[in-house]
Parts: sequence; C-alpha cells; structure tokens
Amino acid sequence: MTTNSESSSNFIKNIIKEDLKNNKNNGRVHTRFPPEPNGYLHIGHAKSICLNFGIAEEFGGLCNLRFDDTNPVKEDVEYIESIKEDVRWLGFDWDKRLFYASDYFDKLYQYAVELIKAEKAYVCDLTLEEIREYRGTLTEPGKESPYRERTIEENLDLFEKMKAGFFADGSRVLRAKIDMASPNLNMRDPVIYRIQRGNHYRTGDRWCIYPMYDFAHPLSDAVEGVTHSICSLEFADHRPLYDWIIETLNIEQPPQQMEFARLNLSSTVMSKRKLRELVDHGYVDGWDDPRLPTISGLRRRGYTPDSIRDFCERIGVAKANSIVNIAMLEHCVREELNYSVQRVMAVLRPLKIVIENYPENKVEMLDAENNPEDPGAGLRKIPFSRVLYVEQGDFREDPPKKFFRLAPGREVRLKHAYIIKCERAVKDEQTGEIKELHCTYDPDTRSGSGETRKVKGTLHWVSAAHAVEAEVRLYDNLFLKENPDEDDDFKASLNKDSLETLTSCMVEPELKDPVPGTRYQFLRHGYFCVDTYSGSDKPVFNRIVSLKDTWAKIQKAQGK
Ligand code: ATP
Ligand code: MG
Repeated sequence: MTTNSESSSNFIKNIIKEDLKNNKNNGRVHTRFPPEPNGYLHIGHAKSICLNFGIAEEFGGLCNLRFDDTNPVKEDVEYIESIKEDVRWLGFDWDKRLFYASDYFDKLYQYAVELIKAEKAYVCDLTLEEIREYRGTLTEPGKESPYRERTIEENLDLFEKMKAGFFADGSRVLRAKIDMASPNLNMRDPVIYRIQRGNHYRTGDRWCIYPMYDFAHPLSDAVEGVTHSICSLEFADHRPLYDWIIETLNIEQPPQQMEFARLNLSSTVMSKRKLRELVDHGYVDGWDDPRLPTISGLRRRGYTPDSIRDFCERIGVAKANSIVNIAMLEHCVREELNYSVQRVMAVLRPLKIVIENYPENKVEMLDAENNPEDPGAGLRKIPFSRVLYVEQGDFREDPPKKFFRLAPGREVRLKHAYIIKCERAVKDEQTGEIKELHCTYDPDTRSGSGETRKVKGTLHWVSAAHAVEAEVRLYDNLFLKENPDEDDDFKASLNKDSLETLTSCMVEPELKDPVPGTRYQFLRHGYFCVDTYSGSDKPVFNRIVSLKDTWAKIQKAQGK
C-alpha cells in the first residue's frame, strides 16, 4: 500500500491544536458523526466520518455515532443498520458511544420549558405559511407574531397541551424568541418544536411534538459532552442560533460548531433525496448498485476501505465548495490494488483460435506470475492447449499500420506462453462473420525458456477446454454531465449506457468458484471484484476501474 498514512493538517485540526494548547475543554477532544437515518451513506459522508473519527484518533479523543432521528416520518431502521455497517467497514469504532437524538426527547422538552420560563420561547398559532410571510427577507426585517407576548403561564400550558396531543398537526409551533429584525433570518424567532403525528421507529406514539434540527443538535452535542461539532458549510448561517441556544440555556463547557465544505464528486449526485429517487424509481438496482456513490455501492463495486480513506485524506478539508473529479477516487483504488491483487486472464468477448501445429490432446501447464509488483505473490499454473480464446478486438482483417495485434500473417506473443502467427480467418459463408482464426505457434518461444525473439504485441488468452464461463459487468459514470445538479431535473443527464453486461466471457479455471468480494486484475481490462449476490449461476465480476489512469493524465496536463 502506498497510502500516506501520516495525515495532513487542515484548518479544523489547527483550531483544535490551538484549543489544546489553551487547555480549552480541559484538554478534551470529543467529536461526533450525526447522520439522519433517512437513506444510505455516501462518499460525502465518508469524508465527514474520516474527519470526525480521524480527529478523535489523532488527538486522543472520542467520537460518537449519533443518529439524528428527530423526524419520525422519513426515518427507518433499515437505514440505521446500513449506516452502522458502513462506518464499521470504513474502519472506525464508536465503542459504546452509539446514541440517538430521540434518547434526549425528555431532556429536550425540559430545555424548551426552561426557555419558556426565561421568556425566550413562545407558542405561536400562525400557520407555517404565515410564519414564512412574517419572516421578511434578506433586505426587509420581519414582523413580530401577534402571539409573541403570551405570558409564561399561557405558553407553559399550551406547550404542555401540544405535547399531550390537544392540537392538530401544524396548528401550533414553539418558537425561540430572539429578534425579528436580525439580519440573519435564522435568528428571526425560529421554530424549535412542531406538532407531527407519525410512528417514530424508536419512541412509537409517545410523542406528537418533535424538536427541530437547529434546537436538537446543539443540545444533543451538549448532553454528550461534544467539544467540536463539525458540520458542513450550509450550517454556517445557523451557527449564531447554535450559540444562542447554548448560551441562553447556560450550558457548561459549550460545544463549538465548525464548518467545512462538503464533498461534491463529478458525474454523480450525492443528496440522499436524489439517491432515493434513483433507487425508488428503478433507475438503479438498489442502494448498493455499484454505480452509486453510496458506501454500500462502492463496496459492492469492489472499492476498499483503505482507498476511500486515502481519497478522503487527499481531498483535504477546506472552506470553499468545489467539485472533485471522480477520476481521483478511481486513482486511489487503482493505486492500492496495483500492489495487492492477483493478475489473471479473462477474455470478455471471445474469439476462438486453433493452433494448427499444436497436438490435439496435449495440455501444457505454464507458469504465470501472480503479481509483478509483488515478488512474494508467487506463480500459478495455467493450461495451454490447441484451442484458445482471445479477444475479438485483438484481430483485424485489414489492420492499420500500428495495430500490433493479430491480423493475417502477423505475429504476437500470448502472455506467459508462445509467439503465434495468424494464418487465416475462417468466416461464416452466409454472414461473413469471423468464426475463428487458424494460427501456428513457434515451439522455441515459450516464455521463461530463455528465448530471445521479440514481437511487438502481447495478448491475453484462455484455453477453451479449461476456461470457465462468467458474467462481467462494466460500469461507466452514472451521469453524462460533470454536474447533474445544473439541470432542472438532475435525471436529464443520466447515462443510459452506464452498465454493460457481458454474459459469455471466458476466464481462467482459477476463477471457477471465486469468493464474493475477492478482487483481481484482469490483464489489460482493469480491476474486478466478485459480486456479492449475483443472481446468476455463473461467477459475476464487477469492474471496479479500468487500467487507464485518467487522474494521472489530468495531473500531468496541469503540470503537477
Ligand atoms: P444529504 O443532503 O446527502 O442527505 P445530509 O447532510 O442531509 O446529506 P446527514 O445524514 O444529515 O446528511 O449528514 C450527516 C453528516 O454528514 C453531517 O454532519 C453532514 O454535514 C455530513 N455530510 C453530508 N453530506 C456530506 C458531503 N457531501 N460531504 C461532507 N460531509 C457531508
Ligand atoms: Mg439531512
């Protein structure tokens, strides 16, 4: 592995180092990763996971896993389980610190009562639409609610009745009493509790009022003793509200919110809402479709945890939004697999060849190296015989000059085997389609025998009698546009050819019953991973990435 295990610095770490120097929080570092269980995690979440758990590791602190489950309607246990699996798979451990915001519903209710008693919150009867109208705009101040001056007693009574189910969904809310003229819209008496009936998967029907994210989040951080609450940039405008809640409720050891830019990746979408749309409407085959940027999709595709962590390290942490080229992610996995996986030969679009001067029943077992990058990987035996398969694309009847593959009269080397010469192509008389090639081999050119004759092209092949039939799935970007979000409907640039399934591939006998999740390099084709549940009686291989390193090329073009 070439990954740079020494983690680089970033502005968040610098702030934490400074805090430690000043013995802020008594030298404690405590972070959290707070997903909302309303979908599967994606590579953007991986960035946040690596950052939060990574910081805890680096500074001898702790990181909690906290489900931010304050919305009963959109959330589901299926998501909880998948999120736990993904965090673990990435290599992180929350130990005993698995929490749910719903664990704090009683506490949060008490905090809200405290705000009411301090005349810092009130029950408002305006409809949500009216609240929006009253809020004003960036250039105009808001208008105060006619319910703003309710007495403490009245507010306590109404809030309790909200909780007890006296009122219809949406008919009343609890609002923080801050400043309707604040230049920050989030400070204009934001809603902190709403009435919403719906069965919560953990608290059932116990509650019909639910805290809003902006209220629940800082207080969940406080309850857990979080010191650094790291979130993405869109929450920067909410920070004054975060701080207001913490200060107004006199939280000891106040947690500190810090924001960083989310990860955006080219040629894909990241929002869970959009991913869910693709899954629910069958544009892809489930949340773990290997074309999706979900962690489960990347895992099924064959990505390794190390390569994703390496990627998250390389992209760094910044304060400005940008789009990272997906080629960089591919580069990271390619670089790792180059050193770690076995090479094998697989013919994806088979063309039969007959070696006319090779005896009918002879089989030779030839030596093939498992990984030229890893001398310890050793050799394996591969069978060679009279009838073989090569790629259809490796033969041209009428080749251009620089085509160093098979053509009538031309010679190539078969990898780990002999030099062969193409004598002629046999065609179907009716269709003109090429059915097979007839070749001859030069017995003096066996690889490893000390032979010296060189030819320009080397082809991969398999022995027809020994090969195993397999299915291979080739993936391309899910979207044709670099930024699908530019269109009114992000689905407009979906790539209809993002999956190509080849069902009659021929692979080495070595790959007869491959273990799901095992990765290989198919010579000349790229890195592949055995599918986890193929739904086929043949072995199924997902292509992780091809061998062409477009990222290295982009870097070179930029002079890096
Ligand atoms: P989405 O819009 O994809 O649903 P979200 O922010 O609503 O994302 P959450 O479950 O609330 O998803 O996110 C949990 C944590 O992951 C948050 O702290 C959030 O900031 C972070 N996160 C989400 N998406 C990204 C991203 N693309 N890059 C970095 N961090 C992210
Ligand atoms: Mg969210």
